[in-house]
Amino acid sequence: MRFILLLFPLLLAAQSSESIWRAARTKQPPPDLAPVLLQVSTLDALLRGLYAAAYTVGELKQQGDFGLGTFEGIDGELIALDGHFYQFRANGTLTEAADKDKIPFAALVKFKADVQFSAKQLTNTQLGELIDSLIPTKNHFYAIKVHGTFRDIQTRAIFKQFLPYPPLGELISGQSVFNHANISGTAVGIRSPSFVAGINQVGHHFHFVSDDTKAGGHALSFTTGEVTIEIQQIRRHSIWLPDDEPFRKAILPVQ
Ligand SMILES: [Zn+2]
Repeated sequence: MRFILLLFPLLLAAQSSESIWRAARTKQPPPDLAPVLLQVSTLDALLRGLYAAAYTVGELKQQGDFGLGTFEGIDGELIALDGHFYQFRANGTLTEAADKDKIPFAALVKFKADVQFSAKQLTNTQLGELIDSLIPTKNHFYAIKVHGTFRDIQTRAIFKQFLPYPPLGELISGQSVFNHANISGTAVGIRSPSFVAGINQVGHHFHFVSDDTKAGGHALSFTTGEVTIEIQQIRRHSIWLPDDEPFRKAILPVQ
């Protein structure tokens, strides 16, 4: 509730009168029932080229219904939304992953918004700045669901890699980039605090899935149309680490 009260006056300052806030949570849950951001492996491990499978989609669905990540061999982008685990590949296809599919990196939560408001025509940078001005602290994690129309959005996905895996930095130049205009969908975001550098991407990280589940990917940039923004504050973080030989021997963090 304190979250709502803190945000409300800031919202009025930052948003037009059409903005609507909704308190979805009337009291703080006890700590052992509070939402947990589950992280699979670390961002630095991914940068090192550790794309081997760590956990299955079926295992991870038990831990969260919302979030983002990638697949074994960095085979496209994971978008988890409403319990569906979508895989958007570099060839431009979006499918729903099977429970046996494997995940080397992800951040997932059981999504339940604390606050909701509407906005329109924001670039991803403006949206990030707006959210940063509204959240009560940058030292917690946040799950951010942005649903509505997007005037434009550019996404990317990386082609499946095979052993020996090259480091992630060598793959960016070969990524597939997709541009869409006036598309309806959801940007699935995780905001991580600065102190988890090396573990997860600091700041805002958005993946996208269209309402028709035909388009998706890691969002490089976008401008929203009219969207609804829901934010969940997360104070618990859990990391599931791989146990394969490459991870055991990896030099981490990446300097
Ligand atoms: Zn991403």
